[in-house]
Amino acid sequence: MSLRYVTTNEGKVREALEYLDDTVTQLDYDYPEIQAEELGPIAAHGAREAYAYAGEPVIVDDAGLFIEDLDGFPGPYSAYVEHTLGVERVGKLAREEGSLDAQFRCVIAYCDGEGFEATPEPVDRGERRGQDLAADDRASATTDEQVATGDLPVKLFTGAVPGTVVEPRGDGGFGYDPIFEHDGKTLAEMSAAEKNAISHRGRALAKFAEWYAER
Ligand code: IMP
Repeated sequence: MSLRYVTTNEGKVREALEYLDDTVTQLDYDYPEIQAEELGPIAAHGAREAYAYAGEPVIVDDAGLFIEDLDGFPGPYSAYVEHTLGVERVGKLAREEGSLDAQFRCVIAYCDGEGFEATPEPVDRGERRGQDLAADDRASATTDEQVATGDLPVKLFTGAVPGTVVEPRGDGGFGYDPIFEHDGKTLAEMSAAEKNAISHRGRALAKFAEWYAER
């Protein structure tokens, strides 16, 4: 069965192809997103919505910029803040506060309607989450009840890249790339391949690709 990357952003699918050959194709669908303080539950919910829509194995991702001394702001609200304050003002705010250390984080969420073998990567089980964490780590099959309540298990793969917030530089990439420096270059100054090799999404995709090859 084929794998669909459910996203309206074609660039993400191009990045994924580097890790997944041509096993993945884009499904251009803007699934409903929930608000939460962590990326994992947002991505997991999105994966269930995307799977219900696609009816075949899906990945979705959720990402954000976390400025350490600003308690992780804008974090899961990165898209909203990009559209309201704008990237340059986020950079200015961080620099004025002397809050330079930051991380980009990404969570890739996979759902195919089935259960998962135990591996180090976590599984989100929707409403049942937290009730029995030991059981959550065991292999499990899905039940009709889970399907009906939308509590399908979702496997999560995280990636992060550390960096510092700087004055905008570079024309490549998108979003917060111009204000995020890693190893002397902003992500907007890197080629697509350079960014992919170190990026939060690249790291999460690499973990996913290794696991998926065994599935
Ligand atoms: P989303 O999860 O892809 O919707 O991204 C959430 C927010 O983070 C948006 O404002 C994106 O522009 C930003 N973002 C996500 N990934 C990156 C990246 O690789 N570089 C810069 N900004 C990013």
